[in-house]
Amino acid sequence: MPEPSRDRVAPLDLLAVDSLLTEEQLAIQDTVRRFCADRVRPHLADWFEAGELPARELARELGGLGVLGMHLEGYGCAGTDAVSYGLACLELEAADSGIRSLVSVQGSLAMYALHAYGSEEHKQQWLPAMAAGEAIGCFGLTEPDFGSDPGGMRTAARRDGSDWVLRGTKMWITNGSVADLAVVWARTEDGVRGFVVPTGTPGFAANPVGRKLSLRASVTSELVLDDVRLPADAVLPGARGLGGPLGCLNEARFGIVFGALGAARDSLESAISYTGDRVVFDKPLSAYQLTQAKLADMAVDLGTGMLLALHLGRLKDDGTLRPEQVSVGKLNNVRTALRIARECRTLLGANGITLEYPVMRHAANLESVLTYEGTSEVHALVVGQALTGESAFR
Ligand SMILES: Cc1cc2nc3c(=O)[nH]c(=O)nc-3n(C[C@H](O)[C@H](O)[C@H](O)COP(=O)(O)OP(=O)(O)OC[C@H]3O[C@@H](n4cnc5c(N)ncnc54)[C@H](O)[C@@H]3O)c2cc1C
Repeated sequence: MPEPSRDRVAPLDLLAVDSLLTEEQLAIQDTVRRFCADRVRPHLADWFEAGELPARELARELGGLGVLGMHLEGYGCAGTDAVSYGLACLELEAADSGIRSLVSVQGSLAMYALHAYGSEEHKQQWLPAMAAGEAIGCFGLTEPDFGSDPGGMRTAARRDGSDWVLRGTKMWITNGSVADLAVVWARTEDGVRGFVVPTGTPGFAANPVGRKLSLRASVTSELVLDDVRLPADAVLPGARGLGGPLGCLNEARFGIVFGALGAARDSLESAISYTGDRVVFDKPLSAYQLTQAKLADMAVDLGTGMLLALHLGRLKDDGTLRPEQVSVGKLNNVRTALRIARECRTLLGANGITLEYPVMRHAANLESVLTYEGTSEVHALVVGQALTGESAFR
């Protein structure tokens, strides 16, 4: 019979995940974890409850930390490998999915769009300030009537002389009301194009989306473009068609493959700690077989999700990562994280429904993460298409 023991191994140490990481990757992960512990975690319950985020202040601090656009090269960006970026996302989301969303949208959507498709002037003008967190970006693709099917978008850009004039509405846009620039995707005579829109341009308005029950520590907005007039050079020269925005989304989804596991890890650590302290029927909740079966299943799922994330990270660093592989990662790891957060909630009993513990906040946040950057159904269709050669989207 095994000896009774109070020694514990942390969930991700079960599979010695750290042994797969370099010194530099571990150092980056540790730096982000400490930043979150000092600067973010103490305030999260209040931000979430109030539905407010000091986004500008936080962006500057995250810029100082070096995580904004950290996987991009040049223009003040850190130029780290993809695994390091993933680990930073994991630590940010272990604090809250809303904080990771701020960083993902800034770095992987707005900055990546400029970096990959922008002119040299776009890059010089915006990227250093965005990397420092002095300028905040948002990414407007989704519309009230077109989310999973962005090809149906109604927002249109027409030429007027050499100018562009944009008209339409974007919905569910992270960072929208605090942004200095919006990367807006619109239909033109030449198909979908991307535009750099300074948010002070006449005709542009951003209205916060209220009454959210998820991602409350994140700014979500409607963007209204009421004949916004832009100069000819506002268009991103390197992006034509839906491949432009989809390329950005692929970057952000990669961060979520790691990030969602942060929310899961935090939930599981919380449940392990809670069940060790909570006495029911005269002994700790953690000493019951039913509890241990739940904890073991969750640790297995978390560990295998982490190995999947690291594998995809290495493929990305090798330059061979394919979109359907990112879909496998997003589909599996977000579903896994949501299942873990919900199961942890059961272990905390009534305490689990409060903001005194992070688990229900994580579970509520992960409902959004399941939906944005491609819903789980859309990722299943991507994987299905890769397996069968048949598109079942329509
Ligand atoms: C908090 C939050 C932040 C966001 N931030 C951004 C942002 O910064 N920028 C941005 O552009 N967008 C953003 N989004 C929007 C997000 O990307 C969309 O919500 C998402 O793409 C889904 O679109 P939809 O909500 O219109 O759902 P719909 O597309 O209407 O889907 C509804 C349901 O139908 C399913 N479905 C769709 N197509 C099919 C099909 N072919 N077969 C079977 N089922 C299908 C979906 O999977 C889903 O379950 C954000 C969303 C949220 C919640």
